[in-house]
Amino acid sequence: MSAGSESIRSTLKKNAARPIAVKTLVEFAAKSGSLDRRFTPSPTAQEGIEGHKRVTSNRPDSYQTEVSFSIEYGGLIFRGRADGYSPDKHCIEEIKTFYGDVDAIPENHRELHWAQAKCYGWMLCEKSGCEYVNVAIIYFHLGDQKEYRFEQAWSAEELKSYCEALAEKYCRWQAKIDARLHQLNVWIEQLQFPYGAMHASQRVMAEAVYKAAATGRVVLAEAPTGTGKTLAGLFPAIKSIAHTPVNKIFYLTAKTTGKQLALENIALIASDKTPLRTLELTAQEKACLQPDKLCNGDSCIYAFDFYKKLEAARAAACNQPILDKQVFKQLAYQFEICPFYLSMEMSRWTDIVVADVNYYFDGTPLLLGLTAEFNWKPYLLVDESHNLIDRGRQMYSAELNRGDLLSAKKHAPTSIKKSLTRINKYWLELIKKLPDAPLALINAMPDKFTLALLEFTNDYIAFLQKNPEHPVQHTSAQEFFFAALNYQKVIDVLHDDFCIDMQNLNSKEEILTLRNLIPAQLLAQRLYFAHCACFFSATLHPPYYYQTLLGLPDNSVHIKVPSPFSQDQLTVKIAHKLSTRFKDRTAAINPICKIIQEQINSEPGNALVFFSSYDFLQKVEIELRKQLSEQDVKFIVQSRRMSEQDRQEFIDQFSHHNNLLGLAVLGGAFSEGIDLSGDALKGVFIATLGLPQVNPVTEHLRIVMQEKFQQGYDFTYIFPGIQKVIQAAGRVIRTKKDTGYLWLLDERFAQKDIKKLLPDWWRISESN
Ligand code: SF4
Repeated sequence: MSAGSESIRSTLKKNAARPIAVKTLVEFAAKSGSLDRRFTPSPTAQEGIEGHKRVTSNRPDSYQTEVSFSIEYGGLIFRGRADGYSPDKHCIEEIKTFYGDVDAIPENHRELHWAQAKCYGWMLCEKSGCEYVNVAIIYFHLGDQKEYRFEQAWSAEELKSYCEALAEKYCRWQAKIDARLHQLNVWIEQLQFPYGAMHASQRVMAEAVYKAAATGRVVLAEAPTGTGKTLAGLFPAIKSIAHTPVNKIFYLTAKTTGKQLALENIALIASDKTPLRTLELTAQEKACLQPDKLCNGDSCIYAFDFYKKLEAARAAACNQPILDKQVFKQLAYQFEICPFYLSMEMSRWTDIVVADVNYYFDGTPLLLGLTAEFNWKPYLLVDESHNLIDRGRQMYSAELNRGDLLSAKKHAPTSIKKSLTRINKYWLELIKKLPDAPLALINAMPDKFTLALLEFTNDYIAFLQKNPEHPVQHTSAQEFFFAALNYQKVIDVLHDDFCIDMQNLNSKEEILTLRNLIPAQLLAQRLYFAHCACFFSATLHPPYYYQTLLGLPDNSVHIKVPSPFSQDQLTVKIAHKLSTRFKDRTAAINPICKIIQEQINSEPGNALVFFSSYDFLQKVEIELRKQLSEQDVKFIVQSRRMSEQDRQEFIDQFSHHNNLLGLAVLGGAFSEGIDLSGDALKGVFIATLGLPQVNPVTEHLRIVMQEKFQQGYDFTYIFPGIQKVIQAAGRVIRTKKDTGYLWLLDERFAQKDIKKLLPDWWRISESN
């Protein structure tokens, strides 16, 4: 047997060894009706468990709980666990917990519950040979703790005919998927690197990426700009599908530009006829075709009869090698189906998903959920992973604003107002106990405050159940409700790596934050479900800082990919007599302008100047415009609020001009992820060390980092700052043909400790 057929066999075995959950079966084959994303309050997982316990504790001793069933049909194994079985009544019971009015549970949800319970009935009849079984759905109201029972007897024949039709539908679809996976493995065996031979740097990274798949490890790859790291990550990851346990690739990025680059590289690797299937997940607000409508069949035509239209749309989508935003849009028009929810459905059936990091790392993310449901072995390729530290902090934090609470109170109906008033009362009590500091730390949240919030969310849910069309949903009350839900989610996972703080005291706009400081633990909990991962970026130095804060396992492999560029391509100069420290900024304006002027006179061409803040940018801009008024220089300046289109226009200007001077803020939209090769950019000036602003929050972070890692200042200021500098500097040299300059406009860049954080391929020339 050839190595190729060996791998195909093992991959099919890998894919065939999957039992299908009954829940998955019914969601695929029995869902009907329209999409309805009106807020329907669902209990938390914990409430659900407690509700189930409550119901089953009322049953006699003979009652069996969590009864496992499985059945083989069409070469697949379907399995699941019924919530209960009563031998006395010969009855399968499926328990669903809920809030609100039992009559408000939508018909298509009930159908799905019945389908699930009937599947267990079918399995029981097949196993025990009985001729009929009673099937009951128990809706348990978590508020009044009351059971609503719906029961029906079904003959074994009826159940067989109904459930086999569902299983048949699933098997047909799975056969189609399997046939494609078979072709995929043949295709992968023959797959060649798109540009012929890889260059040396790419090979270093590609080998590490492949090895991680083979060993189930995590790689932290520091790969400088120009390495072609997207390709060097994707190509071996795709190859690994044929020979390792990997069966999915999630290409995760924090930026839209990163997604685009990944899709372009996949198109380069895979031709139109490829059996490889790639999908782009686009945020709902960007994918939506009717932004002024609501996601339900009564409001939006693309939601109407969604599950009926889904079958044909799914089949058509399956034939598309790359399901990006545009393709989903075309499918949406063709089948009159929502492109966003279609993309969510299709993410089950593709090999590569290109998405924002939150689809895997956030609270209850889609890709993590699917990984658990289908027992996938995903390869995570985390692009620009230095960003994940801050993104992690944001994802795992929650914030409440008392201004929003007061506004919610104004709009809330009487039945909800009471709990809002209580929240406000406890909030005011809390304020009284706090010192009037810019950032007041709170040891623990008073239980009564948290309970009042819970009471509010329950009241709100109950109200909406009774009044589903009530306009309160379009007011700040609903926004405060979602903020309260988020707060409840975070308070449940609060641990040492968080702090609780309040800002803007006595302003009526107090902000209460459950603030994640170290996202490592929560990121690691999610990373655990991946088979392997590669975290890559041009700026992952020093590696222990990223490994620690990203929560990477101890046996992670760190690789440093050599830069493909030569020292001669980039002239790096440090302004030794200039300080951009806050106190020195006014004095720095003239010297900065002088250096810029001299540089662009001696080496004309487009350049970007990065500052620590808009304020400093504006001050230098005034002086620069004066000093360069006689010269043929055009200015373009980043402003505080720029739309995606504004940002694109800003970038496009660099391709249309020769002496353009762009002024921007370091760490903003233009200091990473933009590609200005050739004449588009000749040089970059960086008038800051990039240190985060000193404020009570960063100062508190520094203290915590010092306690935990004994490197408070480095972990809080220096490492994140220099990372931003290197990213911005990376805009100058994009290809082996580019040459240019980099001015580091601060004397501190010459300090030994700072210099050692700069890329070792830079040759820093001595200057004044
Ligand atoms: S098109 Fe927009 S409004 Fe309609 S279902 Fe999709 S996301 Fe919702």
